[in-house]
Amino acid sequence: MFDKILIANRGEIALRVLRACKELGIATVAVHSTADADAMHVRLADESVCIGPPPSKDSYLNVPALLAACEITGADAVHPGYGFLSENARFAEILADHNLQFIGPKAEHIRLMGDKIEAKKTAKRLGIPVVPGSDGAVVSDDEAMAIAKAIGFPVLVKAAAGGGGRGMKVAQTPEDLAIALSTAATEAKSAFGDASVYLEKYLQKPRHIEIQVLGDGRGGAIHLGERDCSLQRRHQKVWEEGPSPALDAAQRKKIGLTVAKAMQELKYLGVGTVEFLYEDGEFYFIEMNTRIQVEHPVTEMITDIDLVLEQIRIAAGGDLPMTQDEVAIIGHSIECRVNAENPVTFRPSPGRIQQYHPPGGLGVRIDSAVYQGYVIPPYYDSLVGKLIVHGKTRAECLMRLRRALDEMVVEGVETTLPLFRALVREPAIIDGDYHIHWLEQYLAGQAAGG
Ligand code: ADP
Repeated sequence: MFDKILIANRGEIALRVLRACKELGIATVAVHSTADADAMHVRLADESVCIGPPPSKDSYLNVPALLAACEITGADAVHPGYGFLSENARFAEILADHNLQFIGPKAEHIRLMGDKIEAKKTAKRLGIPVVPGSDGAVVSDDEAMAIAKAIGFPVLVKAAAGGGGRGMKVAQTPEDLAIALSTAATEAKSAFGDASVYLEKYLQKPRHIEIQVLGDGRGGAIHLGERDCSLQRRHQKVWEEGPSPALDAAQRKKIGLTVAKAMQELKYLGVGTVEFLYEDGEFYFIEMNTRIQVEHPVTEMITDIDLVLEQIRIAAGGDLPMTQDEVAIIGHSIECRVNAENPVTFRPSPGRIQQYHPPGGLGVRIDSAVYQGYVIPPYYDSLVGKLIVHGKTRAECLMRLRRALDEMVVEGVETTLPLFRALVREPAIIDGDYHIHWLEQYLAGQAAGG
């Protein structure tokens, strides 16, 4: 096992990793920008190192500063959290060159899945169903038109290097295609430095369903069921739950085992998520995330497995915590991402939290790094915290969520709490009857006064 882990992240995920380290008896090193000197992860870590000024590129993405921090503190492993350097294969290799363990998958798998075209080819080869579309990057407008006509409009133009919903454009009709291609390519070039784009059939009302996997890197891999992340705004997840209200046990088992088998073949190491769109009973692979995800607590609540702790154990050469047959899905869990944003315009609302009262009680969990008096800096994401609830049934979970949301107090900054309080009372949400466009349609209806 590792002696000392450097946590190359901030906010709630830095704290989440720190908690797992404490339970494993591993010493922790926090790193922080000058804007985060008062952050909770810095206060709770055994040691801390300032790695640069506020902009992420000068601090949390500053590889030489992170290496120096490892050197100074004698850390033997680095946990990247999510975002920042978590899916940077080069970073994993640089750490290895310095005799430091990257707590994550093999660099080759990060690289493979980071290229969405290669990822899709690999998924197909491993027997995972994919969205119909171009076989690789499209090189000309004519080629794109021929493929689009073959799969049928509407089509979605996606960036090969995509992430965070950027570089994605819908072409409803053949007339829209040229402009969708050029805007997606331009956006991809500026966001990722890679203009290559590919085509996919645009699914009309799918759900976003993702499978959590855990692999030992030696050919052992299990799946831990699914999360339904269909409630999105601008392709960003807002509310996640598991199990999906749309799947039954047989469907879960079928897709789960398909994914687990693919991960065994790949000899995948650590935690990962295979993301699908799901429509009319069919699954379509969209991408794989080779890291711990924001919404991982949903799976932890329904499987009683500490994913971050297992991630660390496995990175240190440990075995899988259980066999597939031993994985049991217990009850239901929902996560709400409470952001410091105006609940109507979604404009970020950084600033000082004047009053803070997290909800509690049975089945209620808060993953957050804020405290009363904490100042949310303007430089990073606007997550205040994740409210995660668990219940024996979905109905009990919703009841508990309603109660917990009503109890939660965050004052001084605007938050998205009012949105969740409304959502948890919406008939479509209560029925579990929603798809990836539902939330945007709902918000448009609210804005129109409907
Ligand atoms: P990113 O890596 O940018 O997050 P993804 O491929 O994971 O991109 O897609 C993000 C979201 O975009 C999905 O959850 C879904 O809402 C939407 N999306 C992606 N592909 C399609 C598609 N073929 N048809 C309809 N919506 C899609």
